[in-house]
Amino acid sequence: MHSGTVMPTAQRAMRQGTPHAASGRFRRIKTFLTLFLLGVYFITPWLRWTRNGETAQAVILDIPARRLYLFGLEFWPPDLPLLLGLLIFSAAALFFVTALFGRVWCGFACPQTVWTDMFFAIDRRIDQQFGRDSKAGQWVKSAAHVLVAFFTAFTFTGLFIDITTLAPQLISGAAPPAAYVTIGVLSFTTYMFAAHTRENICLHMCPWPRFQSALLDPDTLVVTYQNWRGEPRARARVPLRPALVDMFSEAPSPAASLLADNGPYRGDCVDCGKCVSSCPTRIDIRDGLQLGCIGCGLCIDACNTVMDRIGRPHGLIKMSTDQSALLPPGQQTAPRFLRVKPLMFAFVMLVSGSAMAWAIATRSNIDASLEHQRQPPFVKLSDGSIRNDYTLRFAHRGGDISSVGVSVEGLPGSAVRVSTSDLPEPAFLCNRRSVSERVMITVPKDSAPEGRVPVTLVLTDKGTHAPLARFQTYFWGPGGARP
Ligand code: SF4
Ligand code: SF4
Repeated sequence: MHSGTVMPTAQRAMRQGTPHAASGRFRRIKTFLTLFLLGVYFITPWLRWTRNGETAQAVILDIPARRLYLFGLEFWPPDLPLLLGLLIFSAAALFFVTALFGRVWCGFACPQTVWTDMFFAIDRRIDQQFGRDSKAGQWVKSAAHVLVAFFTAFTFTGLFIDITTLAPQLISGAAPPAAYVTIGVLSFTTYMFAAHTRENICLHMCPWPRFQSALLDPDTLVVTYQNWRGEPRARARVPLRPALVDMFSEAPSPAASLLADNGPYRGDCVDCGKCVSSCPTRIDIRDGLQLGCIGCGLCIDACNTVMDRIGRPHGLIKMSTDQSALLPPGQQTAPRFLRVKPLMFAFVMLVSGSAMAWAIATRSNIDASLEHQRQPPFVKLSDGSIRNDYTLRFAHRGGDISSVGVSVEGLPGSAVRVSTSDLPEPAFLCNRRSVSERVMITVPKDSAPEGRVPVTLVLTDKGTHAPLARFQTYFWGPGGARP
């Protein structure tokens, strides 16, 4: 793999700023994916979902409440291992696709590529309207870039604060300072990366190209210039190599004559430079596979258009294995898809995906903890009875539990009280879905145990009487060893 050098033809293209628009199969796939991904990004925060009887934002990371909502799913901090599972699954999926098809992530789905492609499209449209060198056009372009960058940042921030209230909050100054900082920083970076730095991020800043070459093998499909067919490149007026003329006919020329017989002839490449001027990273794929190639296939579309124009078959640049690019038909071998590397990544995807699905399906809807207050371990009340205090934290996912009953097992004569509850019985309301309560267990003087005895605190749904949680803890009475 070459190191992404920029050739003279490419330098000519770079002077032109926005790459030429290619048309063809890869451009259509790229346009579809760009529109789809941008649509998902910009629409997602506006989607609504009925949660606990209320209409709320379908996808939101509520940082103060420490909750992530994804439509009907709700994630808490204890679910963080799921994030690890998601990261493993995503990395394996990326490696899997790269091992099979090269850098398709870079070419079609990376945010840098998607936003840069959108900015290229904006530039082309404005150039069409105002002319390439128009000063007014430059101003309109800058304004459009800033606007898109702002909406990108606004939409991102809307994943943390209800987006329907974000704009009024921002205007009135009531939004949290973090919202202003996020929008400011993200607007600036989006503007710089997509409107100015563009492909230089892929060429010089992104670490992914550096180690993705370790994932490629001789069977990986990559964008290749078919050397055997294109060389020697020359202008169209130079006669085509005779052996190439009927190479796609039913009786193809022998492979040896396709590689020899250069004479005063040219190959199929007419050195028009369209593949370079259409390339978003401005590299010349005819120099071989390079770090700068993001695998977008736009040079394939550009070259196929040229082949149509000069009456030659498509595929001078095409997806093939890097090895095959040097070999004429008959000597090329079909890529093998069932290989150790992709199968290994597919296995990791299967295991991590199944583990996540199992963890989500079987996780508890209750998150509760109980802590005995140690200092002092017990309090002696004026009537001589003994009281122990505990801190109970309780949270539940659904909105279906409204009050929770608290009872004690293993301590005869005891009474339970919840500090903030006005309810006639030991219970607390949990309409906030995440509560912290002080629970007090009292025993009369005569029943007080000596030292520490084990007890069980039981939580019950008052509505359905279903048990919710049991805590093995202890009760301290006077006497015995202190904790
Ligand atoms: S577009 Fe095709 S014909 Fe033109 S320079 Fe590139 S490879 Fe050669
Ligand atoms: S060389 Fe072709 S596939 Fe590679 S980045 Fe340029 S246009 Fe895309």
